Amino acid sequence: MSEQKTIEIPEVITIRDLAELMQVSPIDVIKQLMDLGIMANINQQIDFETAAIVGEEMGFAIQLETPLAPEEEEAAPRTLRQRLYEDEDPQDLEPRPPVVTVLGHVDHGKTKLLDAIRHTNVQEGEAGGITQRIGAYQVTIDGKKITFIDTPGHEAFTAMRARGAQVTDIAILVVAADDGVMPQTREAIDHARAAQVPIIIALNKIDLPTANPERVKQQLADHELVVDDWGGDVVCVEVSAKLHQNIEDLLENILLIAEVEELKANPNRAAVGTVIEGQMDPSRGPLATLLVQNGTLDQGDVLLIGEIYGRVRAMYDDRGHRIKESKPSHPVVVMGLPSVPTAGDTFQVVQDERTARSIAAERSAERADRATRPMRLSLEELFERFQAGEIKEMNVILKADIQGSLEPIVDSLERLGDAELKLKILRQDTGNINESDVMLAAASQAIIVGFNVIVDMAAQKTADAEGVDIRLYDIIYKLVEDMDKALKGLLEPEYHDVIIGHAEVRAVFRISRQGKIAGLYVTDGTAARNALVRVHRDGEILFDGRLASLKRFTEDTREVKAGFECGVGLEGFGDFEVGDVLEFYRKEQVT
Ligand code: GDP
Repeated sequence: MSEQKTIEIPEVITIRDLAELMQVSPIDVIKQLMDLGIMANINQQIDFETAAIVGEEMGFAIQLETPLAPEEEEAAPRTLRQRLYEDEDPQDLEPRPPVVTVLGHVDHGKTKLLDAIRHTNVQEGEAGGITQRIGAYQVTIDGKKITFIDTPGHEAFTAMRARGAQVTDIAILVVAADDGVMPQTREAIDHARAAQVPIIIALNKIDLPTANPERVKQQLADHELVVDDWGGDVVCVEVSAKLHQNIEDLLENILLIAEVEELKANPNRAAVGTVIEGQMDPSRGPLATLLVQNGTLDQGDVLLIGEIYGRVRAMYDDRGHRIKESKPSHPVVVMGLPSVPTAGDTFQVVQDERTARSIAAERSAERADRATRPMRLSLEELFERFQAGEIKEMNVILKADIQGSLEPIVDSLERLGDAELKLKILRQDTGNINESDVMLAAASQAIIVGFNVIVDMAAQKTADAEGVDIRLYDIIYKLVEDMDKALKGLLEPEYHDVIIGHAEVRAVFRISRQGKIAGLYVTDGTAARNALVRVHRDGEILFDGRLASLKRFTEDTREVKAGFECGVGLEGFGDFEVGDVLEFYRKEQVT
């Protein structure tokens, strides 16, 4: 593996993205830059030349990305799932099984359908093949595999997306033929659309005398899902999960769609993927069901999941068989982690335990930092991300009191924006803002706009936790005006600085890993880990940014009060001199 790896980067790239491409810690990239005399923070953009020098220093051959063909440039922003494979050389890619999630209204037969599908395979597989549920399973049809996520419903689907994971390639929307499109059917449609995954309709319970498939197809058409036998392009299979009717037909259709989607992965690399489920087993310890999305997971690999890591001691497939390796789209249960990971977390295989330990430590420091900083997906931030080229649409979830007010609002909103930045309404519905709205917003980086509605208590709590921006209005033109301003970037928040303390540099230390650390004496107020800081010297400001560390003796700490000493490292600055004054402050929004 000593061969130089080539990576392609765009003309400008953030340090975070560069580090990610090289699979190294951003701190190491920042350190390299410091050696070149460049002080930068993790979100800062550097140009290609600089990135190439840094990359080469770190053992990579850096090439300029070949520009996209013009029509591709126009395309919608790529989904997370597509990004997972985009660094791969097309030659390395091999077909992989589709990963399917079952969505739909409660009692429409999602669980029954998943059970029926699992049974289809038994005659092909070995006797007694059905074992305990691990959160996902694979079936084989016509010699080809399909992976099913065994937790039906959009709650799990969306919770995973909110954590940054996109595992689903195809969504099966179960609609009971006797009941038709119901509120959660509509929600499921919104969620699948927001995730940009193709939808197949499983029109279930056709065995019932009250089944009325044509009525359901009409309802689906009203939601812009026009099924194939009505001349549309949405595949619809009439099934009975109870009597196991047409299940194979459904599976064959999944394979067809998968073929169109050209789902591929590179099995010849270290594995990355998502945690599907975690559990504590009384005899085997912490177990995690992982879905390998790219690469191959081998027994003995060092796994890093968020802040936990461990060596894969044993692996089992969905039938409980010991296996030694797991290929893309394959769910496996792994043993060997020190604790139970959270579903939706992404995992990666790293070189060795040392690397895992150091990345995990950085992550936990970052998390401690984030926890004290409010995370907001506010309109203003969305606009900033648009300017940074990260988004092309501003996703909005719109709730209004009555249908009559929804229509004029949608009409006006659809006229806003220009070719570059558009407003995309992910959901428009009547009723108060509920948790499902907030989860959809969190997963799709959307904001929620309410007209003459209120926010459910649970929804508010989740919105606070997830940092979702909810804006309530009772005058239509005010709502439309604000959205217009937001799209134009005019909705500037106003901030003012609140100074919380000062400290003086009494000593400067060179700590090998983090660069230089200043030994401080806090002269007034407090020095806080999550505050912003300016470095003053002779009437000049040499640095204005964030802290990388705050320590009392050798311990990380959140705050140090006047009269005490502490050690401080800054994000992207290390050029301290004795006598420098550090001014700690916070930005507060003027409301
Ligand atoms: P879920 O809430 O969507 O997971 O729905 P379930 O799978 O739990 O099914 C709800 C109810 O519908 C159960 O009583 C099932 O037995 C029944 N059911 C599911 N599929 C069918 C079907 O194809 N035909 C009939 N008649 N009943 C079904």
